[in-house]
Amino acid sequence: MDLSYILNEFAEERENYFNAVSPPIMQTSNFVFNTVDEMRKAFADEYSVFLYSRGKNPTTEILRKKLAALDGAEDCLVFNSGAAAIFAAVFANVKSGDHIVSVNKPYTWAQRMFDVILPRFGITTTYIDGRAIENFERAILPNTTVIYLESPNSWDYALQDLKAVAELAKSENIVTIIDNSYCTPIYQRPIEMGIDLSIQTATKYISGHSDTLGGVLSGSKKMMERIFNSEFMTVGSGIQPFNAWLLIRGLRTLPARLDRITVSTTKVIDFLKKHPRVESILFPLDETFPQYELAKKQMSGGCGLLTFIIKAANIQQIEKFCEDLQHIFMAVSWGGHESLIIPKCSSLQPHEFDAVNPEHRMLRLYVGLEEPAYLIKDLEQAFEKMA
Ligand SMILES: *Cc1c(COP(=O)(O)O)cnc(C)c1O
Repeated sequence: MDLSYILNEFAEERENYFNAVSPPIMQTSNFVFNTVDEMRKAFADEYSVFLYSRGKNPTTEILRKKLAALDGAEDCLVFNSGAAAIFAAVFANVKSGDHIVSVNKPYTWAQRMFDVILPRFGITTTYIDGRAIENFERAILPNTTVIYLESPNSWDYALQDLKAVAELAKSENIVTIIDNSYCTPIYQRPIEMGIDLSIQTATKYISGHSDTLGGVLSGSKKMMERIFNSEFMTVGSGIQPFNAWLLIRGLRTLPARLDRITVSTTKVIDFLKKHPRVESILFPLDETFPQYELAKKQMSGGCGLLTFIIKAANIQQIEKFCEDLQHIFMAVSWGGHESLIIPKCSSLQPHEFDAVNPEHRMLRLYVGLEEPAYLIKDLEQAFEKMA
């Protein structure tokens, strides 16, 4: 299916709503039945009909179909946040006593689930450096049911060879789950590479405007139906119609925004690499990146998220740099219109800071939709004030 068709026409039933270009927000909790038999059928198969909006809703349904098509998946479920999608994907594929293999440093709240929630049920997780396939082979146990991936990782951009991991997992009957938030299906297609379940936070690029949260879980129809009838319905973490509408709106411009951000990011990286205050940069599609060849092989583009290591003798210099930025905001998240920065030292107590450790001098920068020259000027003036 053409990308433009998916984003502009697919799954929309304009003839049912006065040929309006933009779909209505079907702000309803429940749906009326005319006969007992219709109601009986709905109870028996809530996955297929409109009964109650915790399950299905016409506005969220448009979004669901578009997102599944975008992922090249048979089906998907749309959640109220990316974290909810991660929780459902993992929970649906473990039982008491099972074992998970996860890449090092997965998204914060995925890690919290592995470290704090799942051990209560006797489910253990082994973290590995996912850059080498041998590490997966060594970590798999007879009771491993899930391999959890995030490629690239959203702090150090470590990649996994997705085809190789999918092949290994299939031979061992293990379900593979990837957090594909960094690339989106526009730049990386995990389902086509054999990964079973692909997750994205829709809060980031799909929304694109920092005004709603959302999460996507894509996979086979069989798996989606099973998750719908258990984790999705019991936790009640489906997306609300208004938020779904915002995400449909975001989808219209997704490729245009990514194109713009890709070009701007290259310019910002060129500036940073030449700046005497910058020790190095981390970006999967930069030639200096250790896994550049793999990145080129399995990603058709990068995104606006990169890390640079600043030269600083103490924590105060880094704090001053961040606070001197006039237009790049200091905030979590990314994927919106606005450029953002997070210094690694914000997650350290000042006395823990070690200027010799490059990790402590990392700054994660998200390049948004502003003019690249405007962003470069902002960085330049903050570097100048550091001296
Ligand atoms: C933000 C983020 C999530 C979580 O998404 P929410 O919508 O905030 O729940 C998951 N993975 C990655 C890589 C993220 O950046």
